[in-house]
Amino acid sequence: MKHFLIFRFCGQDIKNLLNENERTLLGGYGEIYEGRILVPDERIEVLKLFFKEQTNKNNFIRTENFISSAWYEFHYTKSELDSVKILRIIPTRTIMICGEECGTEYDYSGCCPECNSGRKLISHLNIHKSRLPKSADWIRTYAGETIVTEKLVNCFVDYNLAGMNYIQMNTIGYFYPIIKEKLEISSDTEINVHPLYPELRDGYISPDGTSLRCKKCGAFCGDVLAEASVVNSNSIEKNDLFISRQVFGVSRGYLYYEPLYFCSQKFRRMVETEKLKGFKFEVAHIVEQ
Ligand SMILES: [Zn+2]
Repeated sequence: MKHFLIFRFCGQDIKNLLNENERTLLGGYGEIYEGRILVPDERIEVLKLFFKEQTNKNNFIRTENFISSAWYEFHYTKSELDSVKILRIIPTRTIMICGEECGTEYDYSGCCPECNSGRKLISHLNIHKSRLPKSADWIRTYAGETIVTEKLVNCFVDYNLAGMNYIQMNTIGYFYPIIKEKLEISSDTEINVHPLYPELRDGYISPDGTSLRCKKCGAFCGDVLAEASVVNSNSIEKNDLFISRQVFGVSRGYLYYEPLYFCSQKFRRMVETEKLKGFKFEVAHIVEQ
């Protein structure tokens, strides 16, 4: 397994830290780059210092050294992916439109008063037809909604898989999945808001007094940074698609919390055999708890 830290940055000092094959110019104001470092690497400590400095200075002027988003990527060999019972689905196709922008209605009346998680879908999930890509079978909206194609639904039925129901969207050929099997994310899963911000760990209180976990409902106001671990459950043997019981993310504007998605090896084989698109798979661990 290869573990990469990916981050967007600008600034000459950070650029000089990286070899030419570790950075790609994305363009934009202030020359934004995407950096890629194989973990572990001692330069990550230097990046943390840059990040700390910009956080302290509240430095949002992009002409200086500046790191914006950062995340981890895990690359596996086939035998590493073959060796585990369940895998986490990492959607590779996110569209920059969401249900609420297309007339989808949610009921927020029962939401957690602290973090606003727990909304209920009370209409069909609608997305403008022109914004639904033909090049993916598993599509994520930037607000964390999941859409699948008719091809995926037909394959799911043909392969006799279990754990997903589906509802037709207004646009023919697209469905939204209903996944009832919920897996518990175990407490050793690393959660944070940013890989370069180690002070903000789950269970810890950050310097500005906010916790990463909603004290009222347990929603994670951050993302999973490492491979996810789930608590063993009988349903793992019987189903092929799962979501996490806990949700992750933030409620801000249209952005919203979403669960993690997991699948069986049978589901992965279906995706690979039928060349379904929109997926990457990550190893997920099962722990007894
Ligand atoms: Zn909450």
